[in-house]
Parts: sequence; structure tokens; C-alpha cells
Amino acid sequence: MMILKKRKFRALIKPLAGLTASAVMIGTALTLDSQSGHADVQPLAVAYAPMQPVIQTEPALPKPRPDPALAYDLQAVDITLPRTKPALKDILPTSTATLAETIKTQTGHDTTSESVYKLRAGEGVGAILMRAGYSAADTAAAIEAATNKASLRRLQIGMEFTIAEHGFRFSVKPGMDIYILRHPDSGWIAINAIRPVETYIAFIQGSIDDSIYRAALDAGVNEAAFNEYVRVMGFSVDFQREVRRGDKFEMMYAMDRDSLSGDVVGIDFQYAGLSLSGDQLGFFRYDGADSAIGWYDENGNSAARTLIRTPITGARLSSSFGTRRHPVNGFNAMHKGVDFAAPKGTPIIAAGSGVVREAGWKGSYGRYIRIKHNATYDTAYAHMTRIAPHITAGSRVKQGEIIGYVGSTGRSTGAHLHYEILVNNRQVNPMTVRLPTGKKIDPVHLDDFKKQVQMVEAEVLARGTQRFAAAEPAPATP
Ligand SMILES: [Zn+2]
Repeated sequence: MMILKKRKFRALIKPLAGLTASAVMIGTALTLDSQSGHADVQPLAVAYAPMQPVIQTEPALPKPRPDPALAYDLQAVDITLPRTKPALKDILPTSTATLAETIKTQTGHDTTSESVYKLRAGEGVGAILMRAGYSAADTAAAIEAATNKASLRRLQIGMEFTIAEHGFRFSVKPGMDIYILRHPDSGWIAINAIRPVETYIAFIQGSIDDSIYRAALDAGVNEAAFNEYVRVMGFSVDFQREVRRGDKFEMMYAMDRDSLSGDVVGIDFQYAGLSLSGDQLGFFRYDGADSAIGWYDENGNSAARTLIRTPITGARLSSSFGTRRHPVNGFNAMHKGVDFAAPKGTPIIAAGSGVVREAGWKGSYGRYIRIKHNATYDTAYAHMTRIAPHITAGSRVKQGEIIGYVGSTGRSTGAHLHYEILVNNRQVNPMTVRLPTGKKIDPVHLDDFKKQVQMVEAEVLARGTQRFAAAEPAPATP
């Protein structure tokens, strides 16, 4: 009995014996113990007890290696936090309305007269300074100072230099002027100066009488802002046919104005709204992440369609799609596109991104471009006076990029753009074809986008808007 027990016990131990050194030790101790001889050996129960931890021990898992960093003594480290970089406008002087003001403050010289000179073809900075009456020595020293601030090679013809006796000023970068000055102690020196810029928020709304263009300009919309507005709305709206008298528009953008020249130097669009025979459209610009920059409605649906219906601004639809008597050959024929009358030279933009399939002369189409956008959609543009220089078969184009200019080449009676949309190589009516909608904003940016929408809406509402962009108010709970 005892032996049996012991054997059984050993059998139990055996497979465990190799596990750890302590298990072997315990096993040995028990064996000796059981040999002490008494029949009613109570110690057995005691002998079992120490075993329990061994049997119940979980399989030994590999321990994580200690972090090698813990092997080193802790050492106090002197941490100097990086200082915030001062803004350029805090370290550079501000440009002045006249060259004379800067010459006076920087060098003490008085200036009797200053004049603007434009760079002529083949002329360098040296030549323009000589033209302004500088001596050869002054010209050489001034150019040497100037080359520290800017590359003076390949300057644009027509570039303006304001020149006075003790210094001159020019600009090679928007928002920044370079002054080259004759300092009484240091000789000729070069100074960068920031052009002062003021930012305004423009919120503009108005009612359309006959043309949205006229209504917008009458309301004071900046021309660049208007073009952006039309580009964004143009995906959803056919301005030639859908806009009616009494429709309303609104938009909000930040505008940077050069306070010296008064020129608008930047537009940061935030919101575009349109009320169209009761239908309300509103889009918000999002630029919180490079991958999601674009225009979206308040739910994050992209404003962009694959193709723009009217790839030209300020044009008038002069001939629709369908059967008509051809103005040149007199035959009745199917007109497989739409014609937009516009002055010669008006820029034509790519209706969508894609690859240029053809660019060149094409019989009665005159100068012609055809762009493949995807497996289904192509667009074609005819009668151009000129094709943009970088557009050749095989080149990639982006939606909105200028590809050519309105003309009257080929079989044409006057300056106009003949525009076709082709679905599976067959011309369809560009004004009525259903165009695929764009994508939704990437869900990772949706929360951030909605926050931005709320901020813009609060701003828009504060300005007494008709709130075209907002979703319908939720029905009141009964
Ligand atoms: Zn046509």
C-alpha cells in the first residue's frame, strides 16, 4: 500500500522532475521521508503539501529581458527646451511705401527722388542701375551686396526696380522686398523687408439679377474669389441654364491685402453657398490634412464631380447639343457637343484630371484636345486658337488646369469653344449627362472637418445669413 502509493507518487513526480531544480530536490526529500517505515504514515499528507506548489506551478514562461537602459546609472541631464522660433515679421524690418523712408531709417541719407525702372529684355541688374545713373563702382558694389540675398540670374523681363541715389528696391518673392542701400559706414548692404499684409474676413451675399458674375462683382466679390466660387459650384450647377433671376449666393473667405500696394495677395476660401429656385447648396473648404484638402458639403460629401460641365468661365452657351442646321455647310446635322461663345484667348480648363489622348490639328475641329479621364469618360475641346505649351499627347492634366485658349480654327464661324463629353467613346449632352459624384472625406478627418463647419457656420450665422449650407432643422418632437 505504502509502496503503491510511493510508486504512484513517483510516477507523478517523474515527468516534473526535469522541470526545475527545486522540483527534483523536493522529490528526493519525499522519497527519503517515505522510507522511515511506519504504516500509518501521516507524514505523507505533509509530504504532499510541499508538492502542491510544484504541480500547480504554471509553465515557466520566458521572462522579458531587462531593459538595457536599467543597467546604466541614472544621471541628471540638463534639458534646455527648444526656444520657439521668432516669426520672420518680428526679426525683419517692414517694407515702407516709399524707398526714401527705408533709406532714411537704415542709413540716414535723404532722398530727393526715386523712380521705377522695368527690366528690359537682355538686361541685367547692372544695366538697369547704369541706366538709372549709377557709377560702375557703385553698380559693382551694389550687385555684390544683392547677390547675398537673392539670385540675380534669370530675372523676369518687366520686373520692377525702384531706384534712388543711395539705394534701390526689388522683389523676387511675394510678400518680401530686398533693399540694397549705401550705408555711410558699411558700404553697400542688403536688407530683406517684409511687406505688411492685413487679413480681412469677407462675407458677401447677393441676389442674382441676370448674371451671377455681374451680381457678384457688384457685391464686391474679389475676381479670384469669384473664379474659385464658380469652379466649386460648377460641379453641381450649370450656370448658363439653371441660375434664375432672384437666386441668391453667399460666400466667405479670408483675404490678405498688401497694405502698401492695396493688392489682394491671397484668398483663403471657407464657404460657398447658393440658393437655386429653392434648392440650397453649400460647400465648405477643408485644408486640415494634405490628403483631404477640398470642398465638401456639411456631411463631408465632396463637391467635386469627375467632370466640370462648363470648362470655361464667363462664356455664353451659344449652341446646344442635338440636331441643327450647320452654320458653315448648311446641312442639318447632329451637333455632338455644346458651343460656348467667348472672346478669342479666353482660357479653357481641363474638365477633369486625366491623360491627354490627342492634342493638335484635327480637320474641321481645328486645334483640338481630347482627354481620357477614366475607362468611361473622355472630354474634347475644339477650335482653339492655341494649345497650352505643356499639353501634348500623353501628358497628365489636373482638373481646372488651363489647356488652351478659345479661337475659331477649323470649320467655325466665330470665336467659341466646342466642348464634348464622351461616354464609352460616344458623345453625350454635357449639360444633362449624369456625372459621377466625388468621394466622401476620409472618415479619419470627419470630426475635424465637422468642427471646422461649425466654426464657419457660427461665423456665417453671426453675419445674418440665409444659411444655405445648413441641414434642414430636425422636426420638433411631439
Ligand atoms: Zn460645336
